[in-house]
Amino acid sequence: MKLAPTLPPPVSGVIQNRFPDHVVFTTVDEVVNWARKSSLWPMTFGLACCAIEMMAAGGTRFDWDRFGMIPRATPRQSDLMIVAGTVTLKMASRVKRLFEQMPEPRYVISMGSCANNGGPYWRHGYHVLKGIDEIIPVDVYVPGCPPRPEALLYGVMKLQEKLQEDRVLRKKPLAPGSLVDAHLDGVERAPDGSLRIVEPAAAPKPEPAAPAAPSHGAKA
Ligand code: SF4
Repeated sequence: MKLAPTLPPPVSGVIQNRFPDHVVFTTVDEVVNWARKSSLWPMTFGLACCAIEMMAAGGTRFDWDRFGMIPRATPRQSDLMIVAGTVTLKMASRVKRLFEQMPEPRYVISMGSCANNGGPYWRHGYHVLKGIDEIIPVDVYVPGCPPRPEALLYGVMKLQEKLQEDRVLRKKPLAPGSLVDAHLDGVERAPDGSLRIVEPAAAPKPEPAAPAAPSHGAKA
């Protein structure tokens, strides 16, 4: 008797071909944020010992590829800067230039005590920047000297939570103390929403003085 060959089950993902035809409702914010947080591309650079832990986070044991993190070798293709290590004053201007070369939206994780506030060099390190947030904005601070790879991955997950809350298309709510729509002397809002300085109105010219009446006894 000839047996029918047994074929291996088809390889498929968790959700592939599982559902009938259907309709999914969501928001643009949800979709864009989901895409952004699932494809963070960090720039490949490190400054000191913390960078060794960062490299371990990208290695096989911790494997940050699971988060969609693909290191890029140029700031122009990166949307995440992980400042890992001591930021000397010499390097600070280079780090700031790299950050400015990254396209928007861009995010920054400050990894380790040195990047957070100068770390061991806080008091006597005359050559060390006392926190990377003195030159570029930081989204997430990861404490430690050095932080372990798990701590960095936790920081990445915190950044993902922050990204998921972003409002991509809609106007952001006003922050307390915002001056939007406030009346400012000498400033007016154009129809496109921009502000412009109002030229002060020219002062009225003084009326010419009336000719003095001739005094009595004056000769004609
Ligand atoms: S925080 Fe500690 S481990 Fe990290 S760069 Fe500074 S000295 Fe090195």
